[in-house]
Amino acid sequence: MRIVVLGGGPAGLYFALLARRLDSTHKVTVLERNPRGSTFGWGVVFSGKTLRFLEGQDVDTHARLRQKLATWENVDVVHRGERVRIKGNRFAGIARIELITVLEERCLELGVDLRFGTEVEELDSLPPYDLLVGADGVNSLVRTTWAGHFKPDLDRRHNRYAWYGTPQLFDGLTLTFQENEDGLFIAHSYRFEPQLSTFIVECDEKSWRAAGLEGQPGLSGAPFRGRLG
Ligand SMILES: Cc1cc2nc3c(=O)[nH]c(=O)nc-3n(C[C@H](O)[C@H](O)[C@H](O)COP(=O)(O)OP(=O)(O)OC[C@H]3O[C@@H](n4cnc5c(N)ncnc54)[C@H](O)[C@@H]3O)c2cc1C
Repeated sequence: MRIVVLGGGPAGLYFALLARRLDSTHKVTVLERNPRGSTFGWGVVFSGKTLRFLEGQDVDTHARLRQKLATWENVDVVHRGERVRIKGNRFAGIARIELITVLEERCLELGVDLRFGTEVEELDSLPPYDLLVGADGVNSLVRTTWAGHFKPDLDRRHNRYAWYGTPQLFDGLTLTFQENEDGLFIAHSYRFEPQLSTFIVECDEKSWRAAGLEGQPGLSGAPFRGRLG
């Protein structure tokens, strides 16, 4: 079967490698607009359940990811200056770029045809396929093009965020609630590498504007978008 996967994010790459693992006669092609070795965002978190799922699907990918994970068992909530520690969780963090790199390498080993730097502007331009997989993210061209068929139900929220990487090392996953005259700001922070943590600041639209963040360089101000980095 000829399978074309639009989008080389985690979903597209993982689907592609599993498809080849299941049947090596499938011809699987992944089309990705970004060059190899680039993605958006910093660290991402896996729950224990996600890790068990990954292990169950492909032991090899799971073993490679495990080598790159920072793990912890506490979630800390900091509210009005008071820290409450909740233990007994199982979480792991990994740099998004490492996740993508492991998945890309596994795809190449299994014979997936990865085509980077390929922007697909309309679906008519795709190579021939028997199955098309729309793994092109939240602003999916596949879903938009066939909206009449898929009838997507999108619930777009208004919170804004900025996604930073920092050498400040956090212990476990920390949710910090901080209020000032502009509104309420919430930080999600955790270490995902020996020397780096991710630090996402989230707030509602009103606080974002009150703090003068709208239109600031480096901040998209649009929901669901990250920076190339
Ligand atoms: C701030 C933030 C923090 C997050 N933290 C976590 C977390 O800790 N843990 C977690 O599990 N999830 C987290 N997520 C969610 C996670 O990022 C998404 O669930 C995940 O990226 C979805 O993967 P995907 O492959 O479906 O889509 P994407 O990662 O969006 O990948 C889609 C790919 O398709 C490509 N593409 C799109 N359109 C085209 C086109 N027309 N032509 C060519 N290429 C195209 C894009 O370049 C992209 O590489 C977070 C998201 C955000 C915004």
